[in-house]
Amino acid sequence: MLAHVGLTGWGSSGKDAQCPCAGNCEQSKDKMLQTRPAEAATTKTKPPLTIRLCQPRGFCAGVDRAIQIVVLALKKYGAPVYVRHEIVHNRYVVEGLQNLGAVFIEELSEIPDDHHHCPVVFSAHGVPKSVPADAVERNLFYLDATCPLVSKVHKQAIRHHRHGRHVLLIGHAGHPEVIGTMGQLPEGAVTLIDTEDDARTFVPADPEALGFVTQTTLSVEDTAHILEALQERFPAMQAPAAESICYATTNRQEAVKETAPGADLYLVVGAPNSSNSRRLVEVAERAGARMSLLVQRASEIPWNEIGDIATLGLSAGASAPEIIVDEIIDAFRARFDVTVDLAVTATETEDFPVMRVLRDVELTPADMAFVNGER
Ligand code: SF4
Repeated sequence: MLAHVGLTGWGSSGKDAQCPCAGNCEQSKDKMLQTRPAEAATTKTKPPLTIRLCQPRGFCAGVDRAIQIVVLALKKYGAPVYVRHEIVHNRYVVEGLQNLGAVFIEELSEIPDDHHHCPVVFSAHGVPKSVPADAVERNLFYLDATCPLVSKVHKQAIRHHRHGRHVLLIGHAGHPEVIGTMGQLPEGAVTLIDTEDDARTFVPADPEALGFVTQTTLSVEDTAHILEALQERFPAMQAPAAESICYATTNRQEAVKETAPGADLYLVVGAPNSSNSRRLVEVAERAGARMSLLVQRASEIPWNEIGDIATLGLSAGASAPEIIVDEIIDAFRARFDVTVDLAVTATETEDFPVMRVLRDVELTPADMAFVNGER
């Protein structure tokens, strides 16, 4: 269900209305965005613009946890902390962590011999089984930041395999999560189904012994079509015990779907290699936004192409920091008389704790300010 929250979002129409959270919840942050006094004085000559701001948007619990793990490891063990692959698919986050002392590598062999005592963090996307095994072999101290929901998919794939089923993984070729999931099982035990065409042409050794899982960040709609094609051909195919597309992917797509119809422009904050962000752009287009774009920073907004717009849809992929959403709203405020219409479609309460070894380190809002801003 869609709830629009404007200036009167928590039950008072006065500008002094207070949210009981003392300014920390999303509604408070968005309300603050709407009421900066310096901007109010300069809005008269600007064209009006309504921003439909999605909630939920941006960081999911798995991304938040992965970033926290790197930050806490830096606090506890000092720099450098090695991180295998981009911890999450966002350049801004990666650079922020580099500034704090993280060193990003693609392979464990890149860690110098005299740094084998330094921690190495595995990214939120998950890794093939061979990676932790390699770390043990090299006598490295590793912290696995794989999202618990990705680990759940790994377990489901292993379960299918144990039951003697060939595993079909619906996902995008080359994505690190897909590489990680395929790497949970011996070679040949998993077939990747990337498209509907793959679903129609795949020839199994035994059509009665199949089980499927999916990447967590797929388009809900596209996946349903692929599954339909597979289920039609292989009615005995077994589903995973739990849904593989995660809550964050589903909620963000649903929010975009609700807010896109009639939008003159839809902006999704995210990186080109972020699967869930790219899916949001597609969802916005399909749901009726006139134009839909992926942007990493406000500097990428093509102001000349945008022209006269009255309604902007705005969301952020699960790996895009809130500080960039603020930056984009500010960029529109500089050119338009902005009203932010907060579109609440779901409430997320998921919170994944970091591993035990880091729980004795305090995480402060200042530690996460590089992504969350000064909240
Ligand atoms: S998008 Fe979903 S699976 Fe991926 S890190 Fe976030 S919560 Fe986990």
